[in-house]
Amino acid sequence: MCIATPVEDFARFDDVRPEVRGFTAYVPGKSIEEIRQTYGLHRVIKLASNENPLGMSPLAQEAVRRHASGAFRYPQGNTPRLTEALARHHGVASGRVVVGNGSDEVIDLLIRMRAVPGKHNIVAFQPCFSIYPLQSRLCGVEVRRTPLGPDFSQPLEALRAVVDAQTVLVFLTTPDNPSGYCPPLAAVRALAASLPPACLLVVDEAYMDFAEDEIASSLLASGAVPDNVAILRTFSKSYGLAGLRLGYGILPPVLAEYYRRVRLPFSVNVLAEAAALAALEDTAFRAATLSLVREERVVLTERLRALGCTVFPSQANFLMFAPPANITAADLFQRLLERGIIIRPLNSYGLPQLLRLSVGTHEENHIFLTACAEILA
Ligand SMILES: *Cc1c(COP(=O)(O)O)cnc(C)c1O
Repeated sequence: MCIATPVEDFARFDDVRPEVRGFTAYVPGKSIEEIRQTYGLHRVIKLASNENPLGMSPLAQEAVRRHASGAFRYPQGNTPRLTEALARHHGVASGRVVVGNGSDEVIDLLIRMRAVPGKHNIVAFQPCFSIYPLQSRLCGVEVRRTPLGPDFSQPLEALRAVVDAQTVLVFLTTPDNPSGYCPPLAAVRALAASLPPACLLVVDEAYMDFAEDEIASSLLASGAVPDNVAILRTFSKSYGLAGLRLGYGILPPVLAEYYRRVRLPFSVNVLAEAAALAALEDTAFRAATLSLVREERVVLTERLRALGCTVFPSQANFLMFAPPANITAADLFQRLLERGIIIRPLNSYGLPQLLRLSVGTHEENHIFLTACAEILA
């Protein structure tokens, strides 16, 4: 529910920073409650925000219940238990691990730590995950873009070509959002090696564990992260904790040290930490999540293609696709919405002709495919 602000109020507080006045907010996927109310529907399926189709790990749920009574206390400063557990999990020094209120917070702080407004710039593909350019602009920092390939591949030499002496961060999402494209690891290494010494390559691996071959695709999993690279990961997707807000980064040690100094002291709350520690232990739940997503991704791709859609190959837990020529993406999105199926329009990525579908449970995917077959018939 949105309450309109009177025009006089905008005039009265006209002295907000210009970056704030011109800011366009992040566009989230529609919520189940919103659609249930709007269309008076009983059952609504959300396949819009790449959440875990199996929900939250039972062990993590149990941990949240167990720690609920301790939530009156502040968390321990800098979340040392989780930091240690993540360091062990990935086989890296704990001094390099930082945690945040979603990886969104890590992205925001990296920009604020490194980029001086009016002097430095950041570099990313067009389109990309919108938090990179949004938080950069909020800081008054120039964003330089270069387009993805026509097939949504990532021309990394072109990305390198827009880097100059004032570039402090290069953002690369792998597998990419919204396409699911995963660049060859050797090309990512070559990009890192080619950057000027003061430029940090931020490799956002939010979806990396869904890749067919994580070790062959991930700088982090391959065991050797170059020293000018920061890796971002999150508990929001394969770990099923999106609503608890928890992400992390593996940073060069000096940047990790600065990060711990400047972050808001308690941005990771006690229940998120407890859930994450349990989720890391719940290897059965994660194995089930990963195999479900990998299997269903294949089925959804084949079935959508059989319905005349163009589906882009994806290494993530979502698929980007274009509907057949007899219907627009906006119409298909709307017709699905009326049936209680929420997927993601890509207007905010500048791709109004495309849609993004998160992989759901077998049953949810079946309902989605049946609805598509009816609508497209
Ligand atoms: C979902 C997502 C994230 C994770 O965001 P959180 O703040 O950790 O929930 C990060 N990067 C990309 C590209 C994403 O799609």
